Amino acid sequence: MSVPGSLFIDGTWQDARSGRVLRVLDPFDGSLVAAHDAATPGDVDRAVAAARAAFESGKWSGLPAAERADLLHRTADLLVRDREHVALLETRDTGKTLRESRADVDDVVAVLRYYAGLAVVDVSRVVDAGPGVDSRVVAEPAGVCALVTPWNYPLLEISWKLAPALAAGCTAVVKPSELTPLTTAHLLSLLAEAGLPSGVVNLVLGDGEVGAALVAHPGVDLVSFTGGTATGRAVLRAAADTVKRVHCELGGKNPNVVFPDVDVDVAVDNALYAAFLHAGQVCSAGSRLIVHADVHDAVVAGLVAGAEAIRLGDGRDERTQSGPLISAAQRARTEGMVAGALADGAVLAAGGRRPEDPALRDGFFYRPTVLTGCRRDTAVVREEVFGPVLTVETFTDEQEAVALANDTVYGLAGAVWTGDDERAERVAAALRCGTVWINDYHPYVPGAEWGGRGQSGVGRELGPTGLAEYRELKHVWRRRSPGRSGWLD
Ligand code: NDP
Repeated sequence: MSVPGSLFIDGTWQDARSGRVLRVLDPFDGSLVAAHDAATPGDVDRAVAAARAAFESGKWSGLPAAERADLLHRTADLLVRDREHVALLETRDTGKTLRESRADVDDVVAVLRYYAGLAVVDVSRVVDAGPGVDSRVVAEPAGVCALVTPWNYPLLEISWKLAPALAAGCTAVVKPSELTPLTTAHLLSLLAEAGLPSGVVNLVLGDGEVGAALVAHPGVDLVSFTGGTATGRAVLRAAADTVKRVHCELGGKNPNVVFPDVDVDVAVDNALYAAFLHAGQVCSAGSRLIVHADVHDAVVAGLVAGAEAIRLGDGRDERTQSGPLISAAQRARTEGMVAGALADGAVLAAGGRRPEDPALRDGFFYRPTVLTGCRRDTAVVREEVFGPVLTVETFTDEQEAVALANDTVYGLAGAVWTGDDERAERVAAALRCGTVWINDYHPYVPGAEWGGRGQSGVGRELGPTGLAEYRELKHVWRRRSPGRSGWLD
């Protein structure tokens, strides 16, 4: 497996020649999957120039919206054709299970089709501006977009950006994470196969240096970034110099609140899913379980049994329930945060170690970990781990539950489990975050907006707002019978 080139510029695959070699590793066993040179600043310039020329030519933005929609549908069809191949690429790149990778591909198909449907909806409107005047507001594509994505959901994340950008008529330069470029490169091949004109979407592979050059580039009109909050701050600063539009999807430290009037088995099963899906490397992971004191012991007993039973392994093995972490660095970060919590007095209820299985020795594995009795000021409670670590806190009344849930600088997602409908609605309304699940965890649909409050981000993806992010509105005022202004009379 390899990438067809580290650059896709103006419709042509090319290799970068920076001399800075990036190695893509399979996190299951650390084996080399692909190696390529990072893009140079000159490559970034050429990619942005190609996107700019394609935009200005009108060869994409000038097409009838229905033709842009057709292209998105054709790309979705090609993804359906390549489903197994793409899922396997994603699993080798990220370590997630094939079941998850297949679900990601299916979700991407749904997102492409959703934005194909929205592309043809006319959002212009007429404004009543008085006699003798035609006044209307029209939507135009925002221009050249820099789309920068992380390693946990590479294909999914780029589709949330590219599908609406293309539906709106924008052109783009894409930069996936250096750790997981394979499926993004494949998606670009599929777009070309579907007939996307050259230069409309360009790719530069590379690390944060390449990302930084791209978001700061004066030829870029809009930046859409998904990644960590620290990087998000750097992106916002870099974009400020040329006052670009910026959209950021950042980290989360998401509360999962369990009241005592629920089926404990169901709540535990879902809490494990919320926290340990994709080894906890999910921005919306339910990493803070906030449990009513009356069911705390029963819930923790269930969590411990469930976490210890999770089968780690090769994502390609259908029996595997969870894969490894993305890298040795990510595991070291996780180990450090668990060690810090234990030093601060937390109790290790499950996990807290690498697996003993020798077959997993070369991969970046870490056992699903449950911590109780954490201090609220401990990093593991306040900061995103982005690993399989669940902290458990207790409450005794609804107000305390909401206060604990909202005691975070983040605000991406959260959940409440209760059999009381009125309480469910009260708590859902009180949680300060972009998505709230009631008696569920993790589902999303392309038609519903996704994004965070506080330090979880700026703006929304998905839904009609996810398309509006890639449009500029223009007010057009026309006086039917021109006359003197009267100002100088
Ligand atoms: P990073 O912030 O490290 O990287 C994200 C992307 O930005 C990568 O492509 C990275 O390149 C690039 N990058 C790094 N530095 C810069 C820079 N200065 N300017 C521009 N681009 C840069 O995130 P991770 O890849 O580590 O992903 C994990 C993070 O993403 C988590 O914090 C998670 O919460 C968040 N996330 C948020 C989601 C959401 O919807 N809110 C969804 C998924 C993830 P490279 O990695 O190649 O160096």
